[in-house]
Amino acid sequence: MDRPSKAVKVLPLTCLKTTDEHGTCGPGCDAGCPNLHANTTPCALRGWCEAEVQWSVMRTKNYRQIFTSSSTKHGFGNLDEFTKAPVCPEEFRAKCKGSLKFTHRGKDEEQVLQLQEHVFGLKARNNTNLKFKRLPLEEVRVLARALPCYTRLSHVALHQSVLSAEATQSLLKPLPSSLLKLTLASGMDCAARLLADAVTNLKLKVLNLENNKIGEEGAMAIAWSSSSLEIVDL
Ligand SMILES: [Zn+2]
Repeated sequence: MDRPSKAVKVLPLTCLKTTDEHGTCGPGCDAGCPNLHANTTPCALRGWCEAEVQWSVMRTKNYRQIFTSSSTKHGFGNLDEFTKAPVCPEEFRAKCKGSLKFTHRGKDEEQVLQLQEHVFGLKARNNTNLKFKRLPLEEVRVLARALPCYTRLSHVALHQSVLSAEATQSLLKPLPSSLLKLTLASGMDCAARLLADAVTNLKLKVLNLENNKIGEEGAMAIAWSSSSLEIVDL
């Protein structure tokens, strides 16, 4: 990747000045100022930070990442920790054009977008397992939109995530026929009929629904929904 022109400036340490809350170091501070300036853009709005988060969340063992937030509630009670889902390239591009900022906009933005698309494509074409934990509802929706790109999945697992009926439906719809095992262990007040309908179209062998509130009638509906099912774990 080419370095943006004039990105490197030489400044003696003794000339470094502190910056204010606006990221400026005093009168005369402009775009050409060689001083180090505080980046006043929050991490979540920086294009590079979000791209790096995306490369991290594309790992198979996605659940090993933990984000913490003191200002946003994600439906996990007092434990304000959550994780993120991989974003499909079209959506990441729209997010960058809409709300994310790049320090050298116009120079590195397109390269970052292409790199995110490249890494996402590699993962989506090759991943056979996806395991998530503590996805808030909006991230479950993000995952549902990305799933159609994953063509070789054999096991998808969501633990302790927030699932509404609508999110569950959109999550199950794009799952590939290669999927053999599905784990939805999220403590959801599960719409068993909805699950049974969705499972009918898959070729699952193992369905793990532990920790969900599924009654006897719902369990029977799910168990009889697919001829390929060998194990339903409640
Ligand atoms: Zn300055």
